[in-house]
This record gives sequence, structure tokens and C-alpha cells, in this order.
Amino acid sequence: MSFWEEKIEVIERNELERLQLERLRQTISQAAQSPFYKNLFTGKGISSDSIKTLEHLQDLPLTTKDDLRSGRPEDFLAVSPQKVVRLHVSSGTTGTPTAVYHTMQDLDNWADMVARCLCMAGVTPSDVFQNMVGYGLFTGGLGLHYGAERLGVTVLPAGVGNSRRQINLMKNFGTSVIHIIPSYALKLIGTMADFGVNPREELNLRIAVVGAEPYSEATRRRIENEYGLMVVNSYGLSEMNGPGVAFDCPHQTGLHLWEDNYILEIIDPDTLEPLPAGQTGEVVLTTLCREAMPLIRFRTRDLASIIPGDCLCGRTHRRLSRLQGRTDDMLILKGVNIFPMQVESVLMGLEETGRNYVIVVDKDGDLDKMTVRVEMSGSLFSAEEQAKDQAHKKISQLLRDELLISPAVELVDPGNLPSSEGKAVRVIDNRPKEAG
Ligand code: ADP
Ligand code: ZN
Repeated sequence: MSFWEEKIEVIERNELERLQLERLRQTISQAAQSPFYKNLFTGKGISSDSIKTLEHLQDLPLTTKDDLRSGRPEDFLAVSPQKVVRLHVSSGTTGTPTAVYHTMQDLDNWADMVARCLCMAGVTPSDVFQNMVGYGLFTGGLGLHYGAERLGVTVLPAGVGNSRRQINLMKNFGTSVIHIIPSYALKLIGTMADFGVNPREELNLRIAVVGAEPYSEATRRRIENEYGLMVVNSYGLSEMNGPGVAFDCPHQTGLHLWEDNYILEIIDPDTLEPLPAGQTGEVVLTTLCREAMPLIRFRTRDLASIIPGDCLCGRTHRRLSRLQGRTDDMLILKGVNIFPMQVESVLMGLEETGRNYVIVVDKDGDLDKMTVRVEMSGSLFSAEEQAKDQAHKKISQLLRDELLISPAVELVDPGNLPSSEGKAVRVIDNRPKEAG
């Protein structure tokens, strides 16, 4: 088991909390340099002196995505513009994109965090790392790129798309580690099959870093089995740098969230009350090492729980469960709350299904109507009609058991659903806005 910075990764909890308190106080002072927090803190009488213990964090106001979007982006800037060396803008999956500033020190620290994650997953300087996500404003590309270089890995900055070329790169350079978005990982298996490439036999892959969008445990297993490698889940968001916030260790029992860099809270998204370990709620994060743009109690809108207990790897930083989606992703149909992830975990666990699906929501008169369109697997596609009918019945039944409503199911020929190379669009909600 390798450590990037063993001392800090296995730090005693008491010592970690002392470090968090010290850094939180520095962060409050730093944040007070930005117009937004200066105004907020002055109005509420908050200063680093008001933080005597970590519990006092709970007295501080939450920061939301709307706060980031409502004023000028530079309202959150806590250093002079001369010190800013990079500006990232989040993907804007759920609305107006938000701007995030970095100083040289921020970038240096970020690369270190990502190197720590990769090292924990078992990546070594002997690996060849193919970074198959978008470079540019999306933080996944540059984030993993600099982290892997920091670790001393050979990096292939492949970027996104052009599947044939990606496969050739893997073959020609013996790629052993890939970074890929889950929906594209599923799609690429199909492309490999079309080109007659069997990844288990012809490629040298051993680890896939998979993140940036929600995916189920069933999808992880599918990717692992088809490529013949280990999938490590990677969680991050632009507002907290990007990737490198939380990452699987090889035990795959949850994502270690680096608590020397972030304070983690899970709150009930409705009452805003803190939730204990084991209960799912909204992830709230406070940065502890950010210079250009510290954020205090930032509501991520991502849903997860803290996994109770210790990890076998010996790291003391607590583990986050698999992310269950965003609060904004929840669909309410006929009064029932549904997360796309529930649909995915049913579909991707079956051998009758292919690699792509979409959920369409409509109105049928006054009633909500949900249709799950899923591609068939190659073998089901070439099977008799009767086998297709049986598969249809089975999928409908399993979805009904999971969701407690009965969606219509449509089996689609392989490769016939629209696919994207960036974050997948899994839900098409055609209901009029005011009714949705
Ligand atoms: P946007 O919020 O516009 O998509 P980002 O590129 O910053 O912009 O994406 C961060 C978001 O992506 C997270 O808040 C989370 O919703 C999602 N995400 C990132 N990694 C994972 C992961 N491993 N599992 C589930 N969701 C993830
Ligand atoms: Zn661990």
C-alpha cells in the first residue's frame, strides 16, 4: 500500500481536528479579504476570533451556488487579481456556470491532492496514464493531468472523443491507467467490440479513474469486467478545485475525503440540520487550503453519506459513500421521489441490457408518465422475439420493484440512443415547467 504523504494520510483524528481548526481560522481571515465574505462577516460579526472550536463552524452561514452566481464572479476573489494564474468555469450542468479562481499556490496544492489520490489507488511512476476527458474549462482534464505528472507518471493528454484513436494510443503506448467518464467508458466498450479489440487480452489496462458524474455499483462492475481492470471512483467539483476531493482506495469501500483540505458536513437539505454518519444528505464542504477563493460551508447539492468505521487501508480521513446524484436530479412522479441512479443500478446489473439508457418524462393528460428507453445487449438483439418479450417483462418488473411506480420500458437496438462524450444527459423532462 503506497502513501503519497503517509504522515498526513494516517494522522490521528485529534491531531487532524487541531489542524482543521487552525486552518479554518486562517481560512476565515483569508475569506474576509473577498467582497462577498467581508460583507457577510461584517454584518454577522464573524471573525477568525469567533471560531474557538470546530463546532463553531455550524454557526457560520451556508454558501450556495446561487450566491456564487448572483453577484459578480470577482466578489469571491480573496487575493489581488495579479495573483490569479488560472480561472476555471464549472460545466454548468444545472444552470449558469460558476467561475473559480486559482493562485499558483492553489494549483500546486491541487496537483498534490490529485497525486495523493492516484498514489492511494496504486498508480506508480511506471504507469502510462491516458487522460480521456475534456481539457479546458472542465477541471477534470487539467486536474488529473497535473496530478499524474506530479506523481511522475507518463501522461498521454488524449482529451475526449475519437474512440478509434484512443484505442490505438492504448495499444501503441501500453496505457495502463485511464481517466474516463462512466457513460463514455460504457460507450467505448461497444466501440472496441466494433473494431474487434478485446481489452482484456490485447490491452495493458489495470486501473480506471472514473468520476465526474453519478454511476452505480453495477456500472462499476460492468466496466471492471469488460475492460479487466479496477475502477476507482473519483469525486470533485470545480468550486472545490475539481477532482482530488475524495477518492477510492483499493478497498473500494467509500471515497476518502481529504479532511486536511476540506471540512466535511452532511446536512438534511430541507431542515439544514447536520446528519450523523450513515445517513444520506447533502454534502457541505469548507475549503481549508484555498488562497484565491476560499468557500465556507458550500452546499454542493450532491447527496451522499459518511461511512461509519475505519478503513482497512489505515487512512484516518473519513469515507464518503458513492454519490447518489444531485438534489436537482430528483424526479417527483405521481408523488414518488425517484433518482436516475436507481434506474441505472437496475439496468446496468442485467446481461439483457446494453450500455446506454435515457429516462423520458412526459404528461399523459394530468398524469406524469415515465418511459425508460434502454439499449439491448448484442446477444438479446440477435435473439428470438420471445426472449425480447421476456427481457421486457423482467426489466419492467425490476424497475417497478425499485421505483414503486411502473415506467413504460422500450428496448432499443444497440447504438441507437444518442450518446455524448461529456457528461451524459440521462433525463429528458418534457413536462411543462410549472407542473414539474
Ligand atoms: P457541474 O456542476 O456544472 O457539472 P463540475 O464539472 O464542477 O460542474 O462537476 C462537479 C459535479 O459533478 C459534482 O458536484 C457532482 O455532482 C458530479 N460528480 C463529480 N464526480 C462525481 C462522482 N464520482 N460521482 C457522482 N457525481 C460526481
Ligand atoms: Zn481506505
